[in-house]
Amino acid sequence: MLGSLARWLRILGYDTLYYSDRDDDDLRAEALKTDRILVTRDSELVQRSIKNGTQALLIQSDETMKQLQEITNAYDLEVKPKNTRCPRCNGLLESVKKTSVKDVVPKESYNAFDEFWRCMKCEAVYWRGSHWVQILDSLERLKSSNNL
Ligand SMILES: [Zn+2]
Repeated sequence: MLGSLARWLRILGYDTLYYSDRDDDDLRAEALKTDRILVTRDSELVQRSIKNGTQALLIQSDETMKQLQEITNAYDLEVKPKNTRCPRCNGLLESVKKTSVKDVVPKESYNAFDEFWRCMKCEAVYWRGSHWVQILDSLERLKSSNNL
């Protein structure tokens, strides 16, 4: 299950679809059709995909941050949070006026922050709260372990 990895890739701004319930042929077909890289922990699926002309990457680790390291190293991806994609649904985020989220954001957060983003697909609202600080910390750790 690579659901956490998918959320991290979206935080980095990468267009990432995630399925836990589709069969291998469907996944391969979709990756090929939409010009995506199929990322999986299933080595047979990777072999069959490559045979069929679908780009695929085998993830070895079962730890999310190590998985993220594998994929950022494999494709030389920039490790920088972008605030452009919804981690939950992959929808695009738009910057919104503070007053427009008054009713959906907890009062403390509303008072503490001035910038807010809303997912254009699922309407989830984001701001750079304590969770954002944790994201930056995790990415800094990832970058420093890459440089070892
Ligand atoms: Zn969303």
